[in-house]
Amino acid sequence: MRAMLLEHARQRLRRVELADPEPGPGQVLISVAACGVCRTDLHILDGELSDPKLPLVPGHQIVGAVVEAGEGAERFAPGDRVGVPWLGWTCGECRYCASGRENLCDRARFTGYDIDGGYAELALADERFCFPIPESYSDEQAAPLLCAGLIGYRALRFLGDAERIGLYGFGSAAHILCQVAVHQGRRVFAFTRPGDGATQAFARELGAEWAGSSDGPAPEEIDGAIVFAAVGALMPAALRASAKGARIISAGIHMSDIPAFPYEILWGERVLGSVANLTRQDGEEFLQLAPRVGVRTAVEVHPLEDANEAIDSVRSGRLRGSAVLRVGGPAR
Ligand SMILES: [Zn+2]
Ligand SMILES: [Zn+2]
Repeated sequence: MRAMLLEHARQRLRRVELADPEPGPGQVLISVAACGVCRTDLHILDGELSDPKLPLVPGHQIVGAVVEAGEGAERFAPGDRVGVPWLGWTCGECRYCASGRENLCDRARFTGYDIDGGYAELALADERFCFPIPESYSDEQAAPLLCAGLIGYRALRFLGDAERIGLYGFGSAAHILCQVAVHQGRRVFAFTRPGDGATQAFARELGAEWAGSSDGPAPEEIDGAIVFAAVGALMPAALRASAKGARIISAGIHMSDIPAFPYEILWGERVLGSVANLTRQDGEEFLQLAPRVGVRTAVEVHPLEDANEAIDSVRSGRLRGSAVLRVGGPAR
């Protein structure tokens, strides 16, 4: 199979031919149709997440068709369209798994990190961690739902019923979440890099009431914020822009150091926190919600061979929405 391979951190992906994988017990073999590019992929490539399997096929927003099932795998039939997210396997036994928090599993294995992912024509997945994909989405449009959409959805729940929501960094995740939040009747304030008028206009198109620079407050205080950009300085910036009782949640897996800040900006029952990974329940809920809300994803599609260019596009910050790799033929 054709694949784009990471051999060492801080190198470009290399186009290679690999042996076709075969499904083991409980696994499905998937013909990859499309795979989303996530900010986390950049952190892996840049060596900021230190322990990937190497060499590695990245990619954890996989949409494809089941080709073959391994021993005991009966959940999907050949031809079924499925999605594979970041959470690839959990132990089912640790204190986190036993308390409904499999996203925090001590022994969790992640797609495109511990397990080869979707920057390839074929991928293996544990069938218990795959999701059916809603009919109303094309392969490319569905791919960003699988991480950007899911993580944003999980983070949003941490804000409770906050009315005025700040989104810091308006990329793949925020452009999806903005639509969900507006649908729920919340007011969205989009904070972007200073001077990024194009992204601010994009946020307003998707229903944000205000969009402006992340280095200052919005016209009103916010009741909660999700920080998607990997910039630690945005955490105190969001605190400064927030009302009493606000929760400020980082939704990224890696962030630059958070600078020291005066206690008075945390005072007033403000809370700083983070969201990690996803549970299968998050995925099932969100993939039912997205078509009901009418979430549309804006995707920039690249062929598999241009994965490095797609990554550059995500890195540039100029991307409108999400970058997706087109891999094989349609999944349905
Ligand atoms: Zn566990
Ligand atoms: Zn991701």
